[in-house]
Amino acid sequence: MSIAARKKALRFLFEPVVDKLGYKFTPAEEDADFLLEQEAIIEAETGMPYCPCQARAKDRAENMRMVCPCIPFHRAHYDAMRRCWCGLFVHKDVTDPDKLRQFPEAKMKK
Ligand code: SF4
Repeated sequence: MSIAARKKALRFLFEPVVDKLGYKFTPAEEDADFLLEQEAIIEAETGMPYCPCQARAKDRAENMRMVCPCIPFHRAHYDAMRRCWCGLFVHKDVTDPDKLRQFPEAKMKK
């Protein structure tokens, strides 16, 4: 399958999954397109659509926490930002993703 076709397939597969989690694709179409393309490329190389924004470790179990969509593994952090780490997915009520702030998990308010 070509990267372009896989990118479309990933969009189709991810949409219902993130919908159930209260998320949607970012309305920033160019960003979504770029991130999905990176995932399709990574998947072609590794067999898994790993996150394009997080460094993979040598440990497989740790890496499985970075298979897209990784929202369930980082729920509290992403809910606090109202976006996933890459920004591919945002909370359903977000209309302007540029206004969202990305911050490390350690900076979350307790
Ligand atoms: S941070 Fe976003 S794009 Fe990256 S794997 Fe997680 S859900 Fe996917």
